[in-house]
Amino acid sequence: MQASEPPAPDMNEVVGRDDLLLLTLDTLRHDVAVELAAAGRLPNLTAHLPGGTWEKRHAPGNFTYASHQAMFAGFLPTPAAPGPHPRLFAGRFAGSETTAGRTFVFDTPDLVTALAGHGYRTVCVGGVGFFNKQGALGNVLPGLFQESHWAPEFSVASPTSFEAQVACAERIVAGLPAEQRLFLFLNASALHQPNWFHLPGATREAGDGPETHAAALEYIDRHIGRLFAAMRSRRRCFAIVCSDHGTAYGDDGYTGHRLGHESVWTVPYAHFFLEPSA
Ligand SMILES: [Zn+2]
Repeated sequence: MQASEPPAPDMNEVVGRDDLLLLTLDTLRHDVAVELAAAGRLPNLTAHLPGGTWEKRHAPGNFTYASHQAMFAGFLPTPAAPGPHPRLFAGRFAGSETTAGRTFVFDTPDLVTALAGHGYRTVCVGGVGFFNKQGALGNVLPGLFQESHWAPEFSVASPTSFEAQVACAERIVAGLPAEQRLFLFLNASALHQPNWFHLPGATREAGDGPETHAAALEYIDRHIGRLFAAMRSRRRCFAIVCSDHGTAYGDDGYTGHRLGHESVWTVPYAHFFLEPSA
């Protein structure tokens, strides 16, 4: 096991006992995330990251749809060092070399359905277009969940997307009976292009770049405490925070994602417990 890899909890104990949060910071680059954490620019996130920093991982897909389909099947980003690396969640699969004693193994095609079968209320708070519930494709990923939410103010075009998403999560948690376990998935759209409006003084004409990307991550950090507070308000919560893929800003001539470049494949990852507030 790589030194930077946090010890894996026994997911067979976690599932059924704790609430679960999967927060994907869509499009977040690993290098920007690590730089900001080291510079003290993410105080609310780094307070929870093991060792105060992000783990370096490889994305399971190079764009939102591919990566989330893989994650919902149990293939979270892989530690960026030679493996094998045991997984937290895995569909039962003869010959799987990454299923270990601490892995929560399920018989359904996807983790979301498996958690529903274990008594969880499964809720999706969407962000980028693949979660917008507009048209057939935009319903595939939200359709895995018992309950899904999306509104234009959650979208990539909204300068207040994360605040609106967190407010939605707060309403979901407040509406649940105390004994009801919750699996909340939230896809934060703020980092995805366009993100220039998160940097004071930036312009639409100058567009997005590493600095506006960083400003979008600082924006998320300013509001993430409210999400964590909601998720730990009823019981302990096991949280996974990661990116689904990065993006290129002219790196080696590449721009965007859905392409095979280091800036896209390398993502920040963390998992940790949020202890109950009461
Ligand atoms: Zn994405």
